[in-house]
Amino acid sequence: EESRQKSISFAKASLTKLGQFDTSLLNATNASDYHILKNRMESMVWYGETFKSHEWNPSNYNVAGVFGVILNTDYKAKDERLRTIFRRLENVPAYYEAAKATITQPTIPHTELAISQNKGALGLFEKSIAKAVTESSLTDDEKKAFEGRLGETSAAINSYVSFLEGKLAEIKDNGTARDFRIGEELYNKKFPLDIFSGYSAKELYEKALAEKKRVHGEIIKISQQLWPKYFKNEAFPENALVATKKVIDHISVKHVERNKFVDSIRQQIPELEAFVMERGLLEMDPEKPLVVRETPEYQRGFAGASINAPGPYDAKANTYYNVTPLDNYSEEDAESYLREYNHWLLQILNIHEAVPGHYTQLVHSNKSPSLVKAVFYNGAMIEGWAVYTERMMLEEGYGDFEPELWLMYYKWNLRVIINAILDYELHVKGLTEEGALDLMINQGFQEKAEAQGKWRRATLSQVQLTSYFTGYSEIYELREKLKGKAGDKFNLANFHNHFLSFGSSPVPIIGELMSDEYLNNHK
Ligand code: ZN
Ligand code: ZN
Repeated sequence: EESRQKSISFAKASLTKLGQFDTSLLNATNASDYHILKNRMESMVWYGETFKSHEWNPSNYNVAGVFGVILNTDYKAKDERLRTIFRRLENVPAYYEAAKATITQPTIPHTELAISQNKGALGLFEKSIAKAVTESSLTDDEKKAFEGRLGETSAAINSYVSFLEGKLAEIKDNGTARDFRIGEELYNKKFPLDIFSGYSAKELYEKALAEKKRVHGEIIKISQQLWPKYFKNEAFPENALVATKKVIDHISVKHVERNKFVDSIRQQIPELEAFVMERGLLEMDPEKPLVVRETPEYQRGFAGASINAPGPYDAKANTYYNVTPLDNYSEEDAESYLREYNHWLLQILNIHEAVPGHYTQLVHSNKSPSLVKAVFYNGAMIEGWAVYTERMMLEEGYGDFEPELWLMYYKWNLRVIINAILDYELHVKGLTEEGALDLMINQGFQEKAEAQGKWRRATLSQVQLTSYFTGYSEIYELREKLKGKAGDKFNLANFHNHFLSFGSSPVPIIGELMSDEYLNNHK
């Protein structure tokens, strides 16, 4: 509690100091840093005083993450890292006692999550760290002391797990669990703090509904066009969304072989780079190549592909595109995964993750050196940019306007739109699980397992699921606005390079810094 109060006081004092700046005098880098810091400090106060998830989300408390990073990151000799672990372990029992004293009325899903994650944490201490200690060159005395401390750690975690199991039974029996839906009032405040959007939560929700309608219209048109090609002797079904699903399923069988999954991604990156450069869509830096690699063992949670970018203090390191091979999949699961990431969707995934999506954005971002932005980046801008590039690339002619590619793109894009709708309806309008599954499966063409996983994620988080759609919409609109103003003189590459030069700042802030008024005042 003392530490929490200290953070809140710090944030309030910082806000007072920030209030003394005349922001109109700041240059673009400082002005955007200023807004990011102000938003951060306001968030700290609100989270600590109003949102208070420390009282109802028991999964906030888990020591595995930080110890895992120390164990697995090669920043110093391993024995030294083990000694750091040993020193920090001393505080684990006090940490969990503080957690127990803080939790008042948890929600059911967060309690269940905390139980399973803390049980999972045991393996790190009892297996990975214990094994590392045995294999280390620590002295016998050190090893003995370590063993004792690992025992105390396991006991502390187990005691927290039992506390939560008791709490879970209690809240289930008495019906006193806190609702995992945060409700309209908290949502309306959390949305602008987390996303930093030009829209209100409700405006964004309404925008998503309208966009779903537009995309359904487009996707149905393509299905009607493709239908005779794949189902010559069958009439187009009465329900156009059912027909669309049928076309999607039918063409999804075109995919790479499971043992060529990683290679095919490796081959595709240069093709995307070549397209971007030939069309002059934005600047690419040949000095900062993207390294495609198989995901290292310790990072393999679930299958997939993701960008592993160097941290702000390590900006010269390689950027890796981690791709998990499908080695551990059953024949059936591999097939289902490959159908999802079929021939067309895999290209869209590579645009999103790599070129000109996340990887390209991060290379640009590192050129606007700002520790504030490196540490407090805006998630909606980063995800929004990646989603924006999918549409931009297709609109610029990547894939030669092949209808199948556009069909898959719209299916993928619907997921982003539906995430935003789902999040708002669940937390603000009381959407049920049944309603959510109907939305995702019947209107978003998602598989049942995927939809169930997303439902769970939506009960555990709030607002984050809207970040992709918000950032994407705002970037697209900013571009259209500037295009409308510049008319014939609009240059897409200049827009992209200028937009990316502000680093990972909130889109509305970038929009302001790109406006004529701002540019005229800061010549
Ligand atoms: Zn197949
Ligand atoms: Zn992304």
